[in-house]
Amino acid sequence: MTGALPFGVGDVVQVAELHYCYGLGTLTLRIVELGCRERHSDGLWINLRGVDLGDPRGPRQRRVLARIDAVRPAEPRSSAHVPVRPSWNCAGCGQEWPCPYRRRRLLQRYARERITLHIYLGMQLVDAASDLRHLPADTLNTRFLGWLPRPPDAGR
Ligand SMILES: [Zn+2]
Repeated sequence: MTGALPFGVGDVVQVAELHYCYGLGTLTLRIVELGCRERHSDGLWINLRGVDLGDPRGPRQRRVLARIDAVRPAEPRSSAHVPVRPSWNCAGCGQEWPCPYRRRRLLQRYARERITLHIYLGMQLVDAASDLRHLPADTLNTRFLGWLPRPPDAGR
């Protein structure tokens, strides 16, 4: 079996303690290299080289053998943090959209285009307002626009 893996180099994944050799607790690993696979009685395992992000002494390189179907993405991919209509909760993490993860990503992506970001969020706000009629307008305003950092020339 050499099917495509649901993870790859650069991904941050988590593996529960039972499903990798060896360590205590859940492993959080940024994959650096995919090694060879091994067939065992309980399934297909893979040798991974990566950076252990959960080590209390700080990130460090390590190799592990992990059961392939127990390897999970450590966090939903950014594209998954989209609003689910009509609830406007995040598809990725279930929090009110825009969730903290999406807010961070938006600020990164629009770092030099704050006006564009305002327009984008304003359009989302209009859509949300039509779905969330039970919420007061200022609640929605705060949720969609209130978290944005003030532009440097604000207040003049
Ligand atoms: Zn989210």
